Amino acid sequence: MANSDTEVAIIGGGAAGIAAGRRLRQAAVSCLVIEARARLGGRAWTVNESGFALDLGCGWLHSADRNPWVKVAEAQGRDVDKTPPPWSRTSLPVGFPIADQQEFSQAQHAFYERLEAAARNDDDGSASAALEPNGRWNNLITAIGTYITGAELERVSIRDFDNYADTGVNWRVVEGYGATIAAYGDELSVMLDSPVLQIDHRGKRLKIETAKGVINADQAIVTLPTSIIAEKEFLFAPALPEKTEAARNLPLGLNDKLFLSLEGAEEFDKDSRIVGRTDRAGTAIYHMRPFGRPLIEVYFGGALAAELESGGDGAFFDFAASELGALLGSAFTRRTKLLQIHRWGADPFARGSYSYALPGMADCRATLAAPVDGRLFFAGEACSRHDFSTAHGGWFTGVAAAEQVIAERRRQRTA
Ligand SMILES: Cc1cc2nc3c(=O)[nH]c(=O)nc-3n(C[C@H](O)[C@H](O)[C@H](O)COP(=O)(O)OP(=O)(O)OC[C@H]3O[C@@H](n4cnc5c(N)ncnc54)[C@H](O)[C@@H]3O)c2cc1C
Repeated sequence: MANSDTEVAIIGGGAAGIAAGRRLRQAAVSCLVIEARARLGGRAWTVNESGFALDLGCGWLHSADRNPWVKVAEAQGRDVDKTPPPWSRTSLPVGFPIADQQEFSQAQHAFYERLEAAARNDDDGSASAALEPNGRWNNLITAIGTYITGAELERVSIRDFDNYADTGVNWRVVEGYGATIAAYGDELSVMLDSPVLQIDHRGKRLKIETAKGVINADQAIVTLPTSIIAEKEFLFAPALPEKTEAARNLPLGLNDKLFLSLEGAEEFDKDSRIVGRTDRAGTAIYHMRPFGRPLIEVYFGGALAAELESGGDGAFFDFAASELGALLGSAFTRRTKLLQIHRWGADPFARGSYSYALPGMADCRATLAAPVDGRLFFAGEACSRHDFSTAHGGWFTGVAAAEQVIAERRRQRTA
């Protein structure tokens, strides 16, 4: 084992854990990132395929004008692409005439207005309550909702949905968002391939049991996905039932991205978009020629993604081929090949894509984030009240937890 003793153990080496580690290092607090996977980054993951950097997890620097990862990418000498995202522009009219797109856009705007008004009520109900009864565009609004939250609107807290804050500025990193985040962890002390089995906080020091042995630490920052905290009943000794329950009330929704190669891609505008179907919630969205590359990036969310995951990688390709074939002709699919897909629901160290709150449970984010006994601190996208489900939310919570650790250490020294 590389290291058996540290001041602060950071459990999980994703966006939150890396940001926390960098902040502690800056404050000269020794820390060790303990990561289950063989790589840093977690749900931020860039793979290189056919000469392109493909983000299988986060790809968009949401709220880019206040997103700290932008500065990191620039400092690393990366190319930040500022092309407005396809969802902020008109989609290709195939299967979705421009007049319908305008009508949909108005219906979606009205949905958000009702949602915002309803979220102010005492009763934190389901986001589907903001749908217009029998509204023509309800299925497509629900489909878009599954890309945003990873779950169908009826499963999602209306207040949590409304709490999400976004400046509407969305950029990308040509070399990969995942690569940027992982590289930011390069200077940290890290133990890879070391799943944490238990955090024992009974003694004077914490004992963190990993697959590679025990690490003793003064304090720990836990950045595990809520799915992992929820499923590991014995993660904490003694148990922390309020954390387990908060994590269960903030499950990870599902979003999977499929990358296809495309022959004759120039036929489509760079960074354009096709909506698979407008009349059902279980549909995919097709981002044509991302960065101008000869590719299609396909988004699947919620129940559809879960159903396809159980059919294996080929099920995603078959679904996309059938939707695209119906819109562009059956010969079209012969121009495409499956390049990459990652099933985040089946990933043992993620078990989903990003967190949403169940109806009535918006306040669980604060419960999850609250420190315990000045020794256990919590971070990760699910702990963020306004930037949950994102990599910059991971950053903000990681830095906030590191600040709490620094303040607590200072308090103990002067006590
Ligand atoms: C398909 C997809 C698309 C997305 N798109 C975007 C986007 O465009 N923009 C955006 O901002 N966000 C997006 N996200 C969300 C974003 O990737 C996450 O919110 C963010 O990366 C979460 O960071 P985190 O540090 O909170 O969690 P994680 O990245 O999950 O980090 C937690 C770490 O803990 C590790 N771990 C798990 N179990 C253990 C254990 N027992 N012991 C030790 N370590 C363990 C994990 O391996 C992981 O590295 C997307 C996610 C997915 C899956």
